[in-house]
Amino acid sequence: MSDDPAASEAERVVGDGASDAAGAVAGAVDDGAVAPSDPDARVSAAELAAREPDPTTAPLRLVDVTKRYEGGGGTVTALSHVDFAVNAGEVIAVIGPSGSGKSTMLNLLGLLDDPTEGRVELHGTPVAGRSERERTDVRRETIGFVFQDFHLIPTLSAVENVRLPTAFLPGDYTDRAVDLLERVGLGDRLDHTPDELSGGQKQRVAIARSLINEPDVLLADEPTGNLDRDTGVSVLEEIRSIARGGVGVVAVTHDDLVTDYADRTVELVDGVLEETDG
Ligand code: ADP
Ligand code: MG
Repeated sequence: MSDDPAASEAERVVGDGASDAAGAVAGAVDDGAVAPSDPDARVSAAELAAREPDPTTAPLRLVDVTKRYEGGGGTVTALSHVDFAVNAGEVIAVIGPSGSGKSTMLNLLGLLDDPTEGRVELHGTPVAGRSERERTDVRRETIGFVFQDFHLIPTLSAVENVRLPTAFLPGDYTDRAVDLLERVGLGDRLDHTPDELSGGQKQRVAIARSLINEPDVLLADEPTGNLDRDTGVSVLEEIRSIARGGVGVVAVTHDDLVTDYADRTVELVDGVLEETDG
């Protein structure tokens, strides 16, 4: 990693440049669709409510996951026997007090860390045993990330930020980046840099960037944390509409507004996951 924050940010977003599967990804973008274009993947809210989640086909799943950290002060059990599945088309809010394991859970779902016990499955296939390179590829193809503080590169325009994750893939993703920015309402801000955009606009650019590789799952860490309420509402409406196009969304949050827009909310209490009524 570089000491230059912008450069290391680029590394974080783009990941390892080489990709054997790049051709497949590039071939899939020509239809200009924002969400998966498979009509079977599209779900209405009513269908979603009626549907029993099928964990074996979930794009992303934690199976009896325990995560322990060994440190100077002893062992911390950050997650304990967590079972969790993200299904296509749903928005899940993960709530819980500070230190309850939310970031740990998001890191495991994002294939950025490994469980101590239990397993992470992608479309029913365990992730364990894949090389770092395979993991990077599969992460890029499957998972989009949205962060509280946007993580945009300050010197790049909106279009350049959105297509950044494709920098090392063959083909030109500019048209798709423009489509995505239009989709999130920023068709008239394509060439603006982040400092020329409001907080809500920056988060929309980040959302567009997270969709550039047509992920199955969007992982969001406090997506409204730096936004005022009205802006938060419009970003959440955008996120929900993306989910309805077939993407599973997991949002870690302290914000009640996010739970209002979630199809279900789960709560972490000292590393134990509980379903809530909310
Ligand atoms: P949250 O995001 O809900 O605030 P975290 O997942 O960050 O919670 O942390 C859960 C617990 O694991 C906390 O007790 C935290 O101190 C501990 N923890 C998190 N990361 C590490 C680490 N890298 N090393 C040691 N302990 C950690
Ligand atoms: Mg955290």
